[in-house]
Amino acid sequence: MATRDICLWPNPVLTQTCTDAALDDPDLVGLIDDLFDTMYHAKGRGLAAPQIGVTKRVFVVDVTWKEGARDPRAFINPQITETAGDMLIMNEQCLSIPDIPMPVARPERIQLRWTRRDGGLETAVFDGILACCIQHELDHLNGTVIFDHQTPEMRTELEASYAP
Ligand code: ZN
Repeated sequence: MATRDICLWPNPVLTQTCTDAALDDPDLVGLIDDLFDTMYHAKGRGLAAPQIGVTKRVFVVDVTWKEGARDPRAFINPQITETAGDMLIMNEQCLSIPDIPMPVARPERIQLRWTRRDGGLETAVFDGILACCIQHELDHLNGTVIFDHQTPEMRTELEASYAP
């Protein structure tokens, strides 16, 4: 287990579409451990593999550890199979775009299918901050960052204030 360097915007790895992780990949468990270590070290609530330079469809989240107990969740090859509810706007932050929170509108509820780290397939419905965080991290696997959710005017303004 180790912390790894986080790739900062505009590193081109953040715009790539990641490929499915092979479940027999011997590096997969180590990758997940490193994602958790790096996320906790950087005081984040989620981290996707491309943010540490690995273009595989894997991310981790823990939305409760800052306020209470840890709730580490790892998602391999996740897919949103359904969305529901209103569009919710939340101010999101990204470890790859430090100190520039920005509003992003997302469906309030999602149904997700993914592979667990033990190889089992799972489907569940998420809402609230967990749904928001999962959609943010899933965006990373498709080369999308929170800048991409802004209007052109807002994006220009936000990018101008970004100084990594
Ligand atoms: Zn992010």
